[in-house]
Amino acid sequence: MQIINPPSFSQTVPVDLGDDSYPIWVGKGLISQVGGLISEQIDSPSKVAIVADTRVAELFGDQMAEGLKPVVNSPIWITVPAGDQNKSIEWFMRVQDALIEHQLDRQSVIIAFGGGVIGDLAGFVASTYMRGIRWIQVPTTLLAQVDASVGGKTAINHSRGKNLIGSFHQPKLVLIDVETLDYLPEREVRCGLVEIIKHGVIMDESLFELVEQNLSDLLSLKTDILIEVIAKSCRNKAWVVENDEKERNLRATLNYGHTFGHAIETLTDYHQCRHGEAVAIGMNCAAQLSVNLELLHPTDLVRQNRLLQAVGLPLNLSDLSLESISAEDLLQTMYLDKKSSRGTLKLVLVQKIGQAKIHQDISDSEILKAIEMCRKAK
Ligand code: NAD
Repeated sequence: MQIINPPSFSQTVPVDLGDDSYPIWVGKGLISQVGGLISEQIDSPSKVAIVADTRVAELFGDQMAEGLKPVVNSPIWITVPAGDQNKSIEWFMRVQDALIEHQLDRQSVIIAFGGGVIGDLAGFVASTYMRGIRWIQVPTTLLAQVDASVGGKTAINHSRGKNLIGSFHQPKLVLIDVETLDYLPEREVRCGLVEIIKHGVIMDESLFELVEQNLSDLLSLKTDILIEVIAKSCRNKAWVVENDEKERNLRATLNYGHTFGHAIETLTDYHQCRHGEAVAIGMNCAAQLSVNLELLHPTDLVRQNRLLQAVGLPLNLSDLSLESISAEDLLQTMYLDKKSSRGTLKLVLVQKIGQAKIHQDISDSEILKAIEMCRKAK
């Protein structure tokens, strides 16, 4: 993999996947340099289509168009309204239609410009258009920067389950410009911190501590600590992906809190809570289950939840007025998650902050008990 010198104020995280390797650059002001950075990394594209979140196009469209000038004068803009409900087959087809209409070919490039919804949708389009074309990710939410930017998972939702239709398709380059976060609503910043804390809980106590010690600077988006934490989080995820790209085992630990969380999102039709909020409740359920099974010391459950709460995240279904979801319904929906295998649930449980393991033999009654404990505030 060829990696050029990173621009000023940035950190590079290489994702080493043989022929599919790519660099992630984390820094400030990278969008203004996007064209130069792209041309250093890939052969000149025949056409460039930017699949952008509508709000992101409004905020940073001009900056992106200007930054792209060294590569293309008139990129094709395809804007998609915000919302997980638009990670859909309908929007997948609309984007494909636009690419066909504008005659993109196999030398063309798609830029995904937005949060995780856009990354998943545009990435899935890129993986299927003409049997797969190159794509670049410019994630603009903290959640997408620390999580969706690493590992090339792409997907759309089905009404019966989240991310059920998708593929693995690695981008050629990821540009994380922390300046984009200045406009991100606080609620979205909190949701991004969930995934960073998750990385800390499952594999890196030092990252967990870094967030504990610098929480107020992170919440007020101080550049240096933000870049450090984002790069550290991406490095952790890159290590996991490099060792298990297709999620045969190790990569599944990244789903900590997600099997519960995805079920909450499915049961609320993807629009009553944010992905990160559902994952925070899921992390509480998974940690509670770990304590009930005597895998985790209760003080670590308290430590995890104290940090989630300090960020301002929900821990229980009742925190989002979702206590009408029954434990039984949640469990049933969890079985539809693609992480269930041959009728058994694969759950990620924690042994201590910084260490997690996949379990496949947990009884329904134990899971129901843990969910029940996380339905209402104590
Ligand atoms: P999102 O893409 O819906 O973005 C959240 C909101 O922020 C939207 O309203 C959007 O308009 C707005 N926004 C985005 N960037 C902004 C900016 N810089 N300033 C102001 N507003 C901005 O949500 P998300 O939380 O980024 O992503 C969630 C999705 O990511 C889920 O569908 C989840 O499944 C997926 N995901 C994928 C992976 C992966 O590995 N592929 C990993 C984690 C999550």
